[in-house]
Amino acid sequence: MKIGVPRALLYYYYFPLWQKLLLCLGHEVVVSPETNKEIVDLGVKKSVPEICVPIKIFNGHVENLLKKNVDYLFVPRMVSVEKGCTFCPKFLGLPDMVRSTFPELEGKLISPKIEMNSEIIAEPHCYQELKDVLNLSDKELRKALKVAKKHWLKFRSISKKGYLISEALDLVDQKTVPPFENQGDITIGLIGYVYDIYDEFVSMNVAKRMRGLGVNVVTFEMLEERIIDREVKQMSKVLFWTFSNKIFGAGMHFYRNKRVDGIIHITAFGCGPDSLLGKMLELDSEKFNKPFMTVRVDEHTGETHLQTRIEAFIDMLRKKKKKG
Ligand code: SF4
Repeated sequence: MKIGVPRALLYYYYFPLWQKLLLCLGHEVVVSPETNKEIVDLGVKKSVPEICVPIKIFNGHVENLLKKNVDYLFVPRMVSVEKGCTFCPKFLGLPDMVRSTFPELEGKLISPKIEMNSEIIAEPHCYQELKDVLNLSDKELRKALKVAKKHWLKFRSISKKGYLISEALDLVDQKTVPPFENQGDITIGLIGYVYDIYDEFVSMNVAKRMRGLGVNVVTFEMLEERIIDREVKQMSKVLFWTFSNKIFGAGMHFYRNKRVDGIIHITAFGCGPDSLLGKMLELDSEKFNKPFMTVRVDEHTGETHLQTRIEAFIDMLRKKKKKG
């Protein structure tokens, strides 16, 4: 079977697991291309105007895969990967949204319900729908999940060495992964959802741009979970949404960490959780005397605008550092 996986949303976190799972079960995995103008335009046409940019882009990727005649489309319903928190409502209803936007997908959607207390989402109960649709035995599913889990843990360990997700996705299939070395003179905590930072069309490759300007870039997925959890536990009330908590925890860690000179928050236009999260982090900037900048991106953001703002922020950090 040809199973399509949209290169959007949590592709940037869970693709190594899902790809390995489907390959181990003997299926062909078809991924949509990197986001481009055509995909964005398709997504915008298919979406209601007020929805957030990443969901519009997701719809564009679905449309692209439909043209590739895949047998099935893999769109998990991400409910939770942590006790007491869920994903944002757009993730909870994603398969329903896709079904109503693309009626031609009827009977072609595989949407396993991922509901776990841990982000290692490789338990058979999460993939019941996959098992039913592909007619798998318990043994086949367990065996494939075991391999997929190992592969994903390797991917996560590569991120934790300091590699960006875009690099970790390339390195995960290599036998040996060289140690990562930072070479910049300043360090910036780059926070935001993986699908905003690593979709090169959305963020205009912000992480690599910053590295090109001699900056060390640290992100939430490079941190050990216990570091993020420790910060989140200090909140008087945690947020409802898993990934928002992770970003908040990482932001607080970057504020406290003396090696981090400033923080940039990448947020997409139309994101509800970010309007709260961004403000909370911005308010702490003064308390920690550490510069914080929000970059809001949408389908029309121009490269020059982004480049100018980032360069100005970096210059300011360098001057501040020089002054001591
Ligand atoms: S967290 Fe924000 S950007 Fe992500 S899907 Fe929800 S509303 Fe959209």
